[in-house]
Amino acid sequence: MSVLLICTGRDPQVWVNAIREQQPNVKLYVYPEVHDPQEITFVVTWKHPKGVFNRYPNLEVIASIGAGVDHIISDPEIPKRALITRVIDEQLTKDMSTFVLALVLDKIRNVSIHHSEKKWSPLPYHTLDEENIGVMGLGVLGKAVALNLSSNGFKVSGWSKSRKHIDGVSTYHGEKGLNDFLKDTSILICLLPLTSETDSILNKELFEKLPKGAYIINVARGEHLVEHDLLEMLDKGHLSGASLDVFRTEPLPEEHPFWKHPKIHITPHIASVTDPKKVVHQLMENYMHLKNREPLKNVVELKKEY
Ligand code: NDP
Repeated sequence: MSVLLICTGRDPQVWVNAIREQQPNVKLYVYPEVHDPQEITFVVTWKHPKGVFNRYPNLEVIASIGAGVDHIISDPEIPKRALITRVIDEQLTKDMSTFVLALVLDKIRNVSIHHSEKKWSPLPYHTLDEENIGVMGLGVLGKAVALNLSSNGFKVSGWSKSRKHIDGVSTYHGEKGLNDFLKDTSILICLLPLTSETDSILNKELFEKLPKGAYIINVARGEHLVEHDLLEMLDKGHLSGASLDVFRTEPLPEEHPFWKHPKIHITPHIASVTDPKKVVHQLMENYMHLKNREPLKNVVELKKEY
């Protein structure tokens, strides 16, 4: 039984160091290092080359190093026998909550606008209780974001697939609840997982259901957003602006129109980033559970796609 780290686009060495520190005796390989494919039972991964898992006939677990698993599930060749797991981490959740609060406060108090305009001309602003914040997705991250905003004095509502009860947050669910959720939302935050149902959900039709002047924050995945629909709705004045942390192509290409758009605020996918030192223990705990034939933690339902 061995672990294989398949980590493209990120430095695998920090993960190797963190794993070795936690589990010095684990047999660990780093893709594409040469090894016997039969040996690999547990893969730790971020953005693997599509189809690669099929090379390992004894693969039992595919562990995402992040909260999202869309990078795994989007591969049509994932072996059906393998369990998929994700990371749930307190620091990751806190980082997302504080980051979204910072974006919301920046938006309502016009902090970046004053800075970029370099003019002494105070702009009018809304008080916290005048904003209706709507959080799409009330999972680990969305719920924490909603509660943090609510405890800071915002009116908050949330939308999820199944019914939820969260103190201080008005909740809506399912397709039927979407219109009511959107109709009063002045700042819309996307924290949905990327699935076949949520792909391109931030589109013109949805934006039109928001009140005029609504603001969009996307900290989930770039594929949630139909980019030209956002540009059209901003240029028409229906939306007042957007803060985007995630993009269909990352890094966002230099020539992309978002960079120069005065109403779009860009951050380079930094809302909450997994710290290897903080999450390796849960990955290795699951590896030990696999070895001991015990149930694994944070398993994702393949049928649900998240
Ligand atoms: P969870 O799986 O814990 O929660 C997902 C939530 O979305 C649930 O409330 C779920 O509803 C809801 N949902 C899923 N599908 C639908 C649908 N079709 N209609 C309505 N609601 C739906 O995810 P997390 O909160 O942990 O993470 C969310 C996403 O955030 C990740 O998938 C990832 O893409 C992104 N992310 C971004 C980061 C960044 O740095 N920008 C960092 C980390 C994550 P229900 O509760 O009913 O199942």
